[in-house]
Amino acid sequence: MEDKDCIFCKLAGGEIPSATIYENSDFRVFMDVAPANRGHVLIVPKEHFKDIFDIDAMTAGKLFSLATEVARAMKSVLNCDGMNLVQNNGTVAGQTVFHFHLHLIPRYANDGVKIGWQPGESSPTELQELAKEIRKKI
Ligand code: AMP
Ligand code: ZN
Repeated sequence: MEDKDCIFCKLAGGEIPSATIYENSDFRVFMDVAPANRGHVLIVPKEHFKDIFDIDAMTAGKLFSLATEVARAMKSVLNCDGMNLVQNNGTVAGQTVFHFHLHLIPRYANDGVKIGWQPGESSPTELQELAKEIRKKI
């Protein structure tokens, strides 16, 4: 179901033009208009899902399967040395467009692009407790 105020619904549906690499009945794959690096690509479902908490497992699975093919095509064309897959959920996590999307960001040696976090600390007890609580909900 399209959200009439959602820019990615309009992009995915073709109402707003994009530099499209590929589309099928479920997804559109296009170039990010403000790329973090040369060749930054987005995979966007045509159906409106807000985020990882909203998307169904079947669509997410198909999306990731498509990502493997897109990533290989990008590597072959861009000759990148690596790639970050980034998927932001919620404002605190850096999401700015509230329609699920996966970023494929090619990486080149010494490109200076910053993605990531500083390693933190936790105790083995805390790790086990958290694992147990989360496991109960799966
Ligand atoms: P996020 O911050 O994870 O929500 O990512 C949103 C991404 O959408 C950003 O990388 C934007 O550059 C990209 N974006 C926004 N509008 C467009 C557009 N019209 N065409 C292509 N990419 C877009
Ligand atoms: Zn949408």
